[in-house]
Amino acid sequence: LKQLRRGLGKTRRNFLNQLKATVGKGPLNEEAVMEIEALLLQADVGIEATDYIVETLQAKMREEALPLESAIAYLKEIVREILERPFQEKNTPITFAPEQDKLNIWLITGVNGAGKTTTIGKLAHLGQKSDYTCLIAAADTFRAAAVEQVKAWGDRANTEVVANPGKNTDPAAVVYDAISKAQSKGTELLLVDTAGRLQNKKNLMEELGKIRKVIDKKAPDANIESLLVIDASLGQNGLRQAEAFTEVARLSGVVLTKLDGSSKGGVALAISKQLNLPIRFIGAGEGIEDLRPFSSYEFAEALLS
Ligand code: GDP
Repeated sequence: LKQLRRGLGKTRRNFLNQLKATVGKGPLNEEAVMEIEALLLQADVGIEATDYIVETLQAKMREEALPLESAIAYLKEIVREILERPFQEKNTPITFAPEQDKLNIWLITGVNGAGKTTTIGKLAHLGQKSDYTCLIAAADTFRAAAVEQVKAWGDRANTEVVANPGKNTDPAAVVYDAISKAQSKGTELLLVDTAGRLQNKKNLMEELGKIRKVIDKKAPDANIESLLVIDASLGQNGLRQAEAFTEVARLSGVVLTKLDGSSKGGVALAISKQLNLPIRFIGAGEGIEDLRPFSSYEFAEALLS
């Protein structure tokens, strides 16, 4: 919680200090609510989630007077509700809990620079620490440096990396090899790094489609997750990228990276509300330990206290 609090420090300070200055001792009035609306938009909460928060606050205000403390407590409740809804709708477990004694395949997608490779290293480390047997497939065969980068993370996380050293390698072939290896070793968590070229949506779709086909054929019983890595510091721009991916990648959740030092942490709410995707993990640093399963409670606390 401390780390998350530090990570969200900028977002919180901007938001909370101004909120306190505006509301004073309260109770909350219409003018203060308008100020809250502006603050939420500034924190990249996005229009849909902001409207929802404002309307819910106004409804509560009509029922009872809200002094500052109660207003903040109620805001936390609304924030948690927004963040939790996609989990409920998709029936997603809140903790890091791939099924044991079974092959779980996690496709990690996202535009270059979002933090995909780093996230794979962190996830492998988390998996190993949680007593899962892990394997990484370096299926971002497009970028020359990508395979080397994944291998370096594999070393750090003590996790084997399946890669094809040949040129112009087909990503689907790497995934096929990796599944073969996973099946023979009894691997529980296979993390698949994929290429992040959004410039060419058709290519991306074809590539992800091929990878899916290989998985469906070779590992029909595996649990499949498709996680999109989003850079929180991009705020609403990251959300637009995400929308493009939701069209091609059959996503099951999001990893939100670079929450440390970002003043746009509110984008977590926009992602939950607009994309209806559960935020499964958050990255708050460049180190191997700097990834946590998402907790709506922790997030609301870190943002608003
Ligand atoms: P990829 O191109 O999507 O694979 O992105 P990388 O994993 O190579 O990460 C791009 C840059 O972002 C690197 O310099 C990482 O160290 C950095 N990065 C990744 N995740 C985080 C994070 O949670 N916090 C911070 N501060 N930096 C991160």
